[in-house]
Amino acid sequence: MPAAWGARMITLALAAAHGGTDRSNRSADGELVEADLVLRVAYQAAQLLALGDVVDPVLVRQGDEGLTHQERADIAGRAGVDAAVEIHFNSSGDPARHGAELYWHRGDHEGHALGRAIMLAIPGNRAWRSWCTDAMYQGEIANPNALRVTAAYRAVGVPCALVELGFLTSAADCFELSRPGAIDTLAQAVADGCAEWARSVTTAKP
Ligand SMILES: [Zn+2]
Repeated sequence: MPAAWGARMITLALAAAHGGTDRSNRSADGELVEADLVLRVAYQAAQLLALGDVVDPVLVRQGDEGLTHQERADIAGRAGVDAAVEIHFNSSGDPARHGAELYWHRGDHEGHALGRAIMLAIPGNRAWRSWCTDAMYQGEIANPNALRVTAAYRAVGVPCALVELGFLTSAADCFELSRPGAIDTLAQAVADGCAEWARSVTTAKP
């Protein structure tokens, strides 16, 4: 644990991906759009964390402006945050792929631990998978963007958990995501996971 992580709040960047003209993945019926969903999750999770006394959240994308992954990483780096959560919704050519997934950069143990805490906080997410983004795994990774994104955060020295909160190409996931309160539940899980991780790296808490 870095010595700097002592008796203080942990600052965490919550980065809603995409935005602007980049709407990214969407459900077959067009109702669920990644750029919108990630902003709702990030905004609500930041609100929940701001109510607590463990994490000081930094909302990277404030509205519907489009930011590249490099711009998001640069914002997190300039803000001097302790870690970042990149929030996405997945897509796959295989309609059977479903559920939340975690991506982290090889060697980024804090990003891995942070993402793991979020995965464990998602209700019903027992079969979550995680992928270490590393050159030797590139052939296996269905989402090569995750490699570029986590590398950008790594380059600015910010631990990063990239969470994919469901597949918009999965009918089962889209059914769940369309339920009332589904996004609130995911935002709560992100906030709970962040707080859990922050407590684990804060030594001053009794
Ligand atoms: Zn995405």
